[in-house]
Amino acid sequence: MKKDNFIVILGAAESGVGAAILAKEKGFEVFVSDNGTIKEQYKTMLVENGIDYEEGHHTEEKILQASEIIKSPGIRSDAPLIVKLMNQGTPVISDLEFAARYTKAKLICITGSNGKTTTTLLTYHILKQAGLNVGLAGNVGKSFALQVAHNNFDYYVLEISNFQLDHMYDFKADIAILLNITPDHLDRYEYKFQNYINSKFRILQNMQAEDTFIYCSDDQVLIDEIGKRIISADMKAFTVTDDESKQAYLKDDTIYVNLTEKDGFSISVGELQLQGKHNYGNSMAAILAAKAVDIKNDKIRESLKSFENVEHRLEKVPFQVNGVTFINDSKATNVNSVWYALDSMKSKNVIWIAGGTDKGNDYSELFDLVNAKVKALVCLGVDNEKLKKSFGDKLDTIKETRSMKDAVETSFKLASPGDVVLLSPACASFDLFKSYVDRGLQFKEEVRKL
Ligand code: ADP
Repeated sequence: MKKDNFIVILGAAESGVGAAILAKEKGFEVFVSDNGTIKEQYKTMLVENGIDYEEGHHTEEKILQASEIIKSPGIRSDAPLIVKLMNQGTPVISDLEFAARYTKAKLICITGSNGKTTTTLLTYHILKQAGLNVGLAGNVGKSFALQVAHNNFDYYVLEISNFQLDHMYDFKADIAILLNITPDHLDRYEYKFQNYINSKFRILQNMQAEDTFIYCSDDQVLIDEIGKRIISADMKAFTVTDDESKQAYLKDDTIYVNLTEKDGFSISVGELQLQGKHNYGNSMAAILAAKAVDIKNDKIRESLKSFENVEHRLEKVPFQVNGVTFINDSKATNVNSVWYALDSMKSKNVIWIAGGTDKGNDYSELFDLVNAKVKALVCLGVDNEKLKKSFGDKLDTIKETRSMKDAVETSFKLASPGDVVLLSPACASFDLFKSYVDRGLQFKEEVRKL
C-alpha cells in the first residue's frame, strides 16, 4: 500500500542525504535506505535532522510504500527494486528533479561525455567573479538539494550526468550546455548508442524560446541528433574551427563570440589559463553561458585569465625536472580525452603513460597523433597486451610498468630536456589505484621524488 507524502531516498551519499534534508524540511515523511555502508559524516547529518535510515540492505516492503523515490545516480535503473517500483507506478526521480521544484533560481546545466567538470567550474568561476549570487552543484560541490534547503542563490551552475537526466521529467534548464557525445557507459544503455544519446538530449526537455541551448557544432553526433528534433530553445553553436557563421569560433588563435552586430567578444587563446583545443571549446561554451546572463566582457575576460585548471585534467606539475615537463591528465579515462590531450601537446617528444582497466577501447583514432607526437609509450596496468598490440608497430620504444613509481622513473629515463611526460591513461584506474584521483596524486608524488 502506498502512503501519501512519503519519500524514500535510495543511496545515502552527498546527493541522497541532501535530498533527504530538503524533503524533511518540506514536510515529507522521509526514509533513507542504502544497501552499502553509509559514511559517518552522512550518518551524522541524518541523525541531526531526525531522519530515519537503514544501511547494508533495502527493506523492500517499506520502500514499496513510498509516494515517490529519489534514486542515487549510482543505482542502475534496471536494478530489480527500481524495476518493481516503476512497474507499480511509483515515480523514481533524481535528486536534481526533486530539488529544482523548490527553487526559482536560474539553472545553468552542463552535460556531455567529456569536459563537464571543467566547463562547470569555469562557468561558475565567471559568474561568481562577476558578483552574481551563484551556487555550484550537481556532480561537483555540495548537494544541490542541500543548497536549495539552506541557501538562497539566484543562479546555479549544475554539472549533470546522463544517469541523473534519465530520472528528470519536469526539470527545465534555463541555459543548457551540451559539449559532445561519444560512446560511454553503454553497459547501462543496453549497448545501444542511441539510448545514450537520447539520455543526454533530455537536458533539452521543457526548454522554451526564452531559454538558451549551447552546443558544439563540431560534434557530428550532436548535429545529426539536432537535425532529428524540434528544439524550441534559442540555439547558440560553438566551433573550434574558423566557421564564422557560428556564434563562437576560433580564428588565428583567437576566440570570437559574435551574438549581434553590437555584442561581440574576443580573446587571444594565449591569454587563457585553460589550454588545448578541447578547452577552447569548453571556454566558448562558458563564455556563451556568461553572455546569456548578461555578464560584461571585461569580467568574462578577467575570469578566463584567472581560472585555475582543475586538478588531474591536463594539469602541469608546477616545476620541471632536468628540463622535462610533467603533465597529469589522470582523468582521461577514455580514448577521446587522450586524443585532445595529445592534440594539445606542443612537444613532438611526448613520453606517454597509458593503461589501466580497458573499457573496450579502440585506439585507432590515436594513431596519427601518436605518430606525430609520441616518442615512447610507458604502459601502466595489470594487463598491457592491448596497448602493446595496438602501438607495437608504431613506436620503437614501449615499456611495461606496474606501479606509478616505476612508470615515472622509466619515463624520466627515456626523456631528454625539453620533452614532456604525459599521464593520460585512456583507461579506468581500478586495476592498480583506488580512483583516478589516487592515480594522479601518486603521479605527482613520484615526480616530486625524482
Ligand atoms: P567530465 O566531467 O565530463 O568527465 P572533465 O572536465 O573532468 O570532464 O575532463 C575529463 C577528461 O576529458 C580530461 O582528461 C580532460 O582533459 C578531457 N576533456 C575536457 N574537455 C574535453 C572536451 N571538450 N572534449 C574531450 N575531452 C575533454
